[in-house]
Amino acid sequence: MGLINDLKFIVDQNVGKLVKWLRIMGYDTLFFNGGNDSYLVATALKEGRVVLTKDTQIMKRRVITSGRLKALLVEGDSPKQQMHQVIETLNLDCQFRPFAICLECNQPLVERSKQEIKDLVPPYVFQTQDQYMECPNCHHIYWRGTHWQAMTRKLESFAHCYTGDKRYSRRASS
Ligand SMILES: [Zn+2]
Repeated sequence: MGLINDLKFIVDQNVGKLVKWLRIMGYDTLFFNGGNDSYLVATALKEGRVVLTKDTQIMKRRVITSGRLKALLVEGDSPKQQMHQVIETLNLDCQFRPFAICLECNQPLVERSKQEIKDLVPPYVFQTQDQYMECPNCHHIYWRGTHWQAMTRKLESFAHCYTGDKRYSRRASS
């Protein structure tokens, strides 16, 4: 149990928009910016990542057809269609963990106190928000502002998750 949430991904550039959405969900997600497919496969194997791609040639590799490496051939052109497929096929949990992963560099975020970020965020943000996270790599500060809320709402619509009053309904699994 719980292993579903431990999935990690490597996303091919032909479905690159999935990177941001998977990171918003809280998944450790690498972007593969083209080049040698063998590197993509080797990285996925070494780090235990699920491959997401539109490249049918990659899907024909023995390491994938044999089931040794998990990969998903992504269909659909819009991020909405693509995310819906990924979430349904891999049975991803609708209980997102926003605030977990830096959207830019895939680093786990670190919690910061209000005092620590006082001079780093706009005054109106400081006055209205209490919880802050910082990326240890790029030092971007995250908070649950309106931009963030809009993104998570969009993600909920991608996923067809009806979170309603925030009592998330977990998919039944046994
Ligand atoms: Zn970062």
